[in-house]
Amino acid sequence: MKIHEFQARQLLADAGIPVPPGRMVTTASDARRAAEAVLATGAGLVVVKAQVHAGGRGKAGFVKLVRSADDAFAAATFMLSNRMVSPQTPPEGLEVKRVLVAEAVEIAKEYYLAITVDRARRTNTLMASAEGGVEIEHVAATRPQAILRVPFHPVAGLAPFQARDTAMALGLHGKPLNQAVDLIVRLSNLFRGVDASLLEINPLVLTPPCADHPQGRIIAVDAKCTFDDNALFRQKAIADWFDPTEENASELHAAQHGLSYVALDGNIGCLVNGAGLAMSTMDVISLHGASPANFLDVGGSASEDAVAEAFRIILSDPKVKGVLVNIFGGIMQCDRIARAIVGAAETVGFSVPLVVRLEGTNVDEARKILDSARDRIPMMQSATDLTDAAMRITRAVA
Ligand code: GDP
Ligand code: MN
Repeated sequence: MKIHEFQARQLLADAGIPVPPGRMVTTASDARRAAEAVLATGAGLVVVKAQVHAGGRGKAGFVKLVRSADDAFAAATFMLSNRMVSPQTPPEGLEVKRVLVAEAVEIAKEYYLAITVDRARRTNTLMASAEGGVEIEHVAATRPQAILRVPFHPVAGLAPFQARDTAMALGLHGKPLNQAVDLIVRLSNLFRGVDASLLEINPLVLTPPCADHPQGRIIAVDAKCTFDDNALFRQKAIADWFDPTEENASELHAAQHGLSYVALDGNIGCLVNGAGLAMSTMDVISLHGASPANFLDVGGSASEDAVAEAFRIILSDPKVKGVLVNIFGGIMQCDRIARAIVGAAETVGFSVPLVVRLEGTNVDEARKILDSARDRIPMMQSATDLTDAAMRITRAVA
């Protein structure tokens, strides 16, 4: 589960990590008022930031620095009335329903700091770079050695010396060094405390020297958090932040019916039972030159209604030019799938080619059901095995 930046800032602040004060608003006039409040504290610079579950906002023009309440109003008006498109959003972009208005800080240097789970090593990993900011993806792609990786035990946690080594490796000195060490330790404790799978601060900022901080100070100006869904049952406060409007509508709808559905970019809609079979189905489709429009695992015990719903979700995707059903009936009975296909043909209607491969429990009954409905589903073909199925659907959409 993901949360918004304004919520992530709250989490960091509650953990004792310095974050500039700000307020989330949903209208441009509230943005104006929030900016007036920031300026009234004596701050000269205000930042207006779109709150969506995607990064790359700076480059997309959805993070704006302003010096007046009027400019904050204009920036918020722009963000709330345009979809944000970045490499991290779907091509059609995301609607912006909220903006954060916060005190902006002056920046001497931007750093990157993150903690995530390294599944391959079975550890957590602290990542840090002295080249933080909006180019971090480019740094990661072209000079991965510029990003330091420090693995640490998920239960034992990050040792204080690892935090100090990391802060020193970033080239920090004096007070900011100690502030960064303290911040990294707090971040690692927070990571475990909230069952996060990603905590990212980019940029972590060193401010220029000023009267209060002659050596500058360390402060987090952006934060991204992702949580382990399996731990949400014990993270009530965080689970309450779940924002269904930021989720893919089809994925949300599928989850409500107990289906595992992930939208992808291809044109073959897939309906499969079991995650492993779904993965191999996607592989075989790709092998034969087409590409899957989704991952959909109806599971072992889905009802006929849930399977019908699965067809509805697949067929409502305009990218879908063909549907491949691949079922290996174990606990799932093939006749249930066959009935759902017939039901979907009646209630939703197949306007695209359909290839069905069924094997396993009750397959004979399933074949009978499909055979008797064949004149009502003329675009349906039966396949003998997975390769045959993938070849048929690829040919049908070509
Ligand atoms: P992202 O592009 O979605 O990651 O949004 P960020 O919050 O990281 O902002 C993008 C960039 O805007 C940062 O890398 C900074 O260069 C700049 N920026 C963001 N907040 C501030 C701020 O408070 N002060 C200044 N001077 N620049 C900021
Ligand atoms: Mn950022």
